[in-house]
Amino acid sequence: MNKLIELIEKSKNIAITGHVSPDGDCTGSTLGLYNYITENYKDKQVRVCLEKPSMKFSYMNGFELISENPFMEADLVVSLDASDRERLGSRGVLLDIAKESLCIDHHITNTDFAKFNIVEDFRSSTCELLYTLLEKEKVSVNTAICLYTGIVHDSGVFKYQSTTKETMDIAGELIAKGFDFTKIIDDTYFKKDFNASKLLGLVLTNAKLEFEGKCCYGVLDFDTWSKYISDKKKMDGIIDNLRNINGVEIALFMYETEKNEYKVSLRSINKNVSTIAAALGGGGHIRAAGATVYGNADEILKDKILPMIEKELNG
Ligand code: 5GP
Ligand code: MN
Repeated sequence: MNKLIELIEKSKNIAITGHVSPDGDCTGSTLGLYNYITENYKDKQVRVCLEKPSMKFSYMNGFELISENPFMEADLVVSLDASDRERLGSRGVLLDIAKESLCIDHHITNTDFAKFNIVEDFRSSTCELLYTLLEKEKVSVNTAICLYTGIVHDSGVFKYQSTTKETMDIAGELIAKGFDFTKIIDDTYFKKDFNASKLLGLVLTNAKLEFEGKCCYGVLDFDTWSKYISDKKKMDGIIDNLRNINGVEIALFMYETEKNEYKVSLRSINKNVSTIAAALGGGGHIRAAGATVYGNADEILKDKILPMIEKELNG
């Protein structure tokens, strides 16, 4: 019996949490585990304690029960898809409240911050790793929908290098449960609102190339993006468009979240951007990483980020 199942069996009151700005993998793994426990262990009390994810994920069972409030007792907290305690935001306090804590994650920058940690950085997604910890025959279609969503999102629809035969085998087992996977991929990964598409166009129009075309970057200040969209999550995917330009090896996208506060996203073809993100106080994966930085965008770019990118490109 693995640690997850062992801890679930001996806990009555279970809190499930994940990182701030939950993405497909975080939302899918937390709700996937929620569905698995509530369906197979009727005597357990389970809650998902998370920042509200994008409404595009509202088809997942249990979505409307997600609560941001961490201040409730728990025998066990399971953290999914978060590399460190800071990534849990105010939900980090659950690690102090709960009697036991378990972290399940696939980030190379994971700090083993819980009492028990199951971290496999070769996995495409936390959802893939979570599936390997569950009893296959006890995975329902509701759980499968959640896990499949996370695998699709974090593997870039089975395209990133983290995708393995096992990723595909697991995705195959999940779709065999029977659901409309085409609709999930289209609605949550590819489709964009009209205004979000225009904003993408604006970023591409103003994007800059550096280092003989090996680096492409785009920056948006708050006033610019908020004229098009109200929800910053609608900028997901802009970074991939910068990365998909011929010749680009490292892409960078920065948008202002508050005065002098910027969310940075980094993507690469083969280079390591996780160390750049870590040096900026963030983290992530070798080819997809991020951070939050403070100050003047031009100065941060020129003095900090572009020199690190140049070094990585020449390294
Ligand atoms: P994104 O650019 O899509 O926000 O994030 C890409 C990857 O980097 C994700 O795996 C995400 O978990 C990680 N990441 C993004 N921002 C941060 C951050 O501020 N801190 C840490 N530790 N990881 C981050
Ligand atoms: Mn993930």
